[in-house]
Amino acid sequence: MLYLYTHPACLNHVPGPGHPESPRRLAAVLEALDHDRFAALDRIQAPRATREQLLRVHTPEHVERILGTHPVDDLAVLDEDTLMSSGSAEAALHAAGAACAAVDAVMRGPVTRAFCAVRPPGHHATADRAMGFCLFNNVAVAAAHALAMHRLKRIAIVDFDVHHGNGTQAIFATESRVLYVSSHQAPLYPHTGGADETGCGNMLNAPLPAGTASAGFRGTWHDVLLPRLHAFRPQLVLVSAGFDAHRDDPLADLALKTDDYAWLSERLVDLARAHAHGRIVSCLEGGYDPGALCAGVVAHVTELLQD
Ligand SMILES: [Zn+2]
Repeated sequence: MLYLYTHPACLNHVPGPGHPESPRRLAAVLEALDHDRFAALDRIQAPRATREQLLRVHTPEHVERILGTHPVDDLAVLDEDTLMSSGSAEAALHAAGAACAAVDAVMRGPVTRAFCAVRPPGHHATADRAMGFCLFNNVAVAAAHALAMHRLKRIAIVDFDVHHGNGTQAIFATESRVLYVSSHQAPLYPHTGGADETGCGNMLNAPLPAGTASAGFRGTWHDVLLPRLHAFRPQLVLVSAGFDAHRDDPLADLALKTDDYAWLSERLVDLARAHAHGRIVSCLEGGYDPGALCAGVVAHVTELLQD
């Protein structure tokens, strides 16, 4: 059993014609999950995040800017990559709200895993700035929610999106109850995530050169990232699940195959089983080739569904 959090409002964020982070991404993911083999998914309408939840990681000015932007001609430009339409604020509220509700659900049990099929993505959003297609930092809001409401002492955030989650890193740079672990292509947007960026000892970054394929990716996780995650003994595993490190993705130059997402997901399930009573909340981040995105999500969700 696995909770699937989503909301139709997440389809109404339209960041402009030709933008890679289009509503078609989520529509394709939901269609791929609408299959008999996923009958055990418990589909739940995601609530809106509350201001209290958002303000745990974002400044009041940022929250007001996102909620108070009323796009002229249905498009407001926050930066060259990050645009809002009239439905964007509502989409962002449900994306962050999904992650918080999923945390509450897996902490309550008995179901211990959740996947949030939401957009806009979140991991580039900092405390006070939307960037990189991201408005609110969904995973960071969820982690702060788990710290505050469930009084956890050790939360792991695992980020396998091809881009570094600069926003998540910046938000938790001095929060030792959170361990942030990321593999990502370098150099690549947003040009953070060097191996020397270690926060307060709670950040582990594994930059990978362009062209890195399955062996390099798996070796890095097996030898470096997963051992550190196990040593941390997280009570909850949050995942920034981006599928843009796939070799077919148009925005980056890593060379993963769909099977690599199954491989890592299986190990994340093992990690959660070993330390966190099985608790995983995974949130969709990037992935811009529709076929690779859907295949990656299917592989990931299939592993999360394993008993
Ligand atoms: Zn990405």
